[in-house]
Amino acid sequence: MRPIVAAIAREPHGLFELQSLNIQEPTGSEILVRTKASGICHTDLLVRDGVFGPPLPAVAGHEGAGIVEAVGPAVNSIRPGDHVLLTQASCGGCRSCRSAHPMNCEDFVRYNITGDRANGTKPYQEAVSGAFSGQSSFATYMLAYETNGVVLPPDFPLAHAAPLGCGLMTGANSVFRVMAPLAGSSILVIGAGAVGMGAIMAAKIAGCGTIISVDLLSSRRDLAMELGATHVVDGADSDLVKIISDITRGGADFAIDAVGLPATAANMVRALRPGGHGVLLGAAGVGQTVELDLMDLIFNRKIQGAIQGDQVPQVAVPSLISLHMQGLFPFERILQFFPFEAINDAVEGMENGSVVKPVLLFD
Ligand SMILES: [Zn+2]
Ligand SMILES: [Zn+2]
Repeated sequence: MRPIVAAIAREPHGLFELQSLNIQEPTGSEILVRTKASGICHTDLLVRDGVFGPPLPAVAGHEGAGIVEAVGPAVNSIRPGDHVLLTQASCGGCRSCRSAHPMNCEDFVRYNITGDRANGTKPYQEAVSGAFSGQSSFATYMLAYETNGVVLPPDFPLAHAAPLGCGLMTGANSVFRVMAPLAGSSILVIGAGAVGMGAIMAAKIAGCGTIISVDLLSSRRDLAMELGATHVVDGADSDLVKIISDITRGGADFAIDAVGLPATAANMVRALRPGGHGVLLGAAGVGQTVELDLMDLIFNRKIQGAIQGDQVPQVAVPSLISLHMQGLFPFERILQFFPFEAINDAVEGMENGSVVKPVLLFD
């Protein structure tokens, strides 16, 4: 056990409070990581608000990166001193994990959501939930697993690596792996946050000829143009579907909803051409429903979700890093850095839209 400092969510919509805790040592397939950086994602705010994930009080955070301090006796591929980023955890042994779909892991909840470690014990000595997404990265140390640790090149900046583990990977791999568009395809991306920007950069790499970014904020639309969008549309425009249809001459080949509201999901479906493929990547909370005209589906349109881009992190992350080093995936453009102690400022910037992807830095 060792002392740490964690940012604790105590009550819905409250501020994060920095507090000392004691974290357990790794056992089995666990790894203990000293946190150097962590992105903040909207899902962390759902945890804070008590609508998703472990019971409060809780340590959220699921885009951690750092240096491995210790590993459990069953860990094979990660060693103390390795630089790692952390993603969602999985069991590694079920049918989904064995067929290269670890995000469908049959034990996903036990590894990521309950607030306890997968072995059923508490991550901290104190009565605070942790182990969120198999990490709880809003803390100076994280207990994670071999399955959600991705070893990084030692010279790759951990502050840049951290946010690759969730939103950027989700957006990019939904394009590369889930959609796999032919060069020249048209794609609509609703929402220009980290997920949407990841999808836009990936669509450009994949050679999509028409890349339409939709967002409410003009600053986000401007940045989307710089990162690869060929067209932008104000999300408040009531003629959205007609505008998309005009740009694409009949509807988009591919569409992503990175917002996850009933209205944006409905627009994603309606903006597709016959045979088009829509992928839902955002979720604004539990219990959101959408009405679909079945005639929209019958013409060979395909709609699916793609949690985390349905990829294998140890394969997908090195690929994104390679693209970045070739200058093709300039995701550092969307990052803004804050000291860990300023987590509430970072969250405020995220909630008012002025910050696309806040990254917390640790000493
Ligand atoms: Zn996330
Ligand atoms: Zn599994």
